[in-house]
Amino acid sequence: MTPTMDTLAIRTENKFKSLVSKREYHKGDVICEMPSENVMDKPNRYTVQIGRNQHTHVGKLAALNHSCDPNVILDTENMLMIARRDIARGEELSFFYPSTEWEMNAPFICLCGAPNCIHVVAGARFLPLSTLEDHYLNPHIREMMIELLNHTKHHLEVLQTA
Ligand SMILES: [Zn+2]
Repeated sequence: MTPTMDTLAIRTENKFKSLVSKREYHKGDVICEMPSENVMDKPNRYTVQIGRNQHTHVGKLAALNHSCDPNVILDTENMLMIARRDIARGEELSFFYPSTEWEMNAPFICLCGAPNCIHVVAGARFLPLSTLEDHYLNPHIREMMIELLNHTKHHLEVLQTA
């Protein structure tokens, strides 16, 4: 069976959109391919980051909200949305925004209530490594994090020898 977006519905309550699954999924299932409608070099509140300087509109998936304990993963390397755990019919889908976003255009305060809630969702660059390690991270985020760490290490070495 080819996974399609027909199994997903957009729900709107008080102008607040969310993406809901119309069927159940098991952990690891491919839910759908991630659409890429156009690629830009700057993020906006509807885009998903798929590379160092690549941000794309993702059609229906723009209705995906953030959660610090999400039930789906966006795999930007293979452009797939995958179930992170079993998902019930009618359940809202969410992903961890910093798993794709390095520095967000529109940061916000998270009220997801998860025990591991990061509270300020602004992108991976603002999170400690210990927090990021608990999450699925896409290759571009890993690369940029390693670069930032090396850069910081270099600065510390300069300070020590000054
Ligand atoms: Zn949260």
